[in-house]
Amino acid sequence: MSPPLLEIEQLDAGYRGATVVRKLDLVVAEHEVVALLGANGAGKTTTLLTVSGLLPLLGGDVRLSGRSVKGRAPQRIARTGVAHVPEDRSLFFGLTVKENLKLGTRKAGPAIERVVDYFPALGNLMGRQAGLLSGGEQQILALGRALTGSPRLLMVDEMSLGLAPIIVEHLLPVLRRIADDTSCGVLLVEQHVRLALDIADRAYVLSHGNLVLQGTVAELAANRSLLESSYLGSASPEP
Ligand code: ATP
Repeated sequence: MSPPLLEIEQLDAGYRGATVVRKLDLVVAEHEVVALLGANGAGKTTTLLTVSGLLPLLGGDVRLSGRSVKGRAPQRIARTGVAHVPEDRSLFFGLTVKENLKLGTRKAGPAIERVVDYFPALGNLMGRQAGLLSGGEQQILALGRALTGSPRLLMVDEMSLGLAPIIVEHLLPVLRRIADDTSCGVLLVEQHVRLALDIADRAYVLSHGNLVLQGTVAELAANRSLLESSYLGSASPEP
């Protein structure tokens, strides 16, 4: 059996020796959408930054298709097919939509066509400066840019931040479609728990850096009280 796309094993992660995520085990397979949930400050962003190589591993391991990211620079990790859409979207505001999309790929033509297929709204905005887009359009552009590199693992941090729920409801199913159509796995950090669970296969819940709950969406839906208590910090870490 081939190793999973992303395998996080007993991960300790954090900043300058301050460990904020402890002993995390998490797996994402091809075609899967996995939600990483938890209250503010639980350690979700820290986890994504560590997978991308932007933060060092403090303990444990992160493997992509069986190969450890230990000691690999973020650019090298990105080249192995990891695309990370950060909370701040990291767009080049002075460049046009098309120029932003071209930055993510050497084969701009087909890549941009594919992006417009998933996000038709970008089709009419190619010449617009990214800094002049609405918040929702900027988020679509950030997702589109991540897609231009045909990622194997797409990590999206708080896509819904600052967006109207109707836009979030429109965008999340596109992530589901991407996972279904391609062999890409999606790791999604999301505050809109219900919407995230609508499109995810499985979810993990962090509380104060500890994994307190995990399961399929059906398992979590059947146990809403545990899901809610894990947010309030009253659930115990998983053994
Ligand atoms: P949020 O929804 O607020 O982004 P989160 O689950 O993504 O929550 P993280 O951003 O991973 O949480 O933060 C986890 C912990 O790490 C918090 O206690 C936070 O204060 C701390 N932290 C975040 N960034 C830094 C940093 N640059 N230096 C030190 N500690 C940090």
